[in-house]
Amino acid sequence: MSEMCLACALGVGPCPVPHWTVSHKYDKRGAQLADGHYSRRTVGSPQFMPPGQTLVLVRDDAVFGWWRPHPDSGLRAMNGLDGWTCTIFRNVGPVLSSKLILAAERELAARHDCGPDGLLTYVDARKVASANPGYCFKAAGWRRSGRARKGDKPLLWKPFAAAGQLEAA
Ligand SMILES: [Zn+2]
Repeated sequence: MSEMCLACALGVGPCPVPHWTVSHKYDKRGAQLADGHYSRRTVGSPQFMPPGQTLVLVRDDAVFGWWRPHPDSGLRAMNGLDGWTCTIFRNVGPVLSSKLILAAERELAARHDCGPDGLLTYVDARKVASANPGYCFKAAGWRRSGRARKGDKPLLWKPFAAAGQLEAA
């Protein structure tokens, strides 16, 4: 799925193109990046995703993790919503975060179906050093949802039909 990029093809960074490589939840680089992420529970743990079905995307300067309860398990998410949740996104490189989010949506949509509640993520307003927590998700077309809250973390949401696009399909 990844577009070819000269910086990555030649092994010289930083990469200016918002493309991802599919990896797994034990990815070493992903775990290192996750150690600096606010949602990380156990710093130094070799894996950084909750149990369930995951799609882990990495690049030299970023990590993105999609998660849902495994469809075969019969389990539901604790919030009762049926969709894919971004449980981690960290970008320390030069590419705009909103572009990496859109690319991550495309990688997900190319591989999986999605429940009716679409794409979801929680933003911890207390731990994000930003006047507008979740700004990069909003710039990628995500919106506040009043449907569920986790403590005082607002839920951001995007319909699956709009994955990879800025406007709702
Ligand atoms: Zn590249």
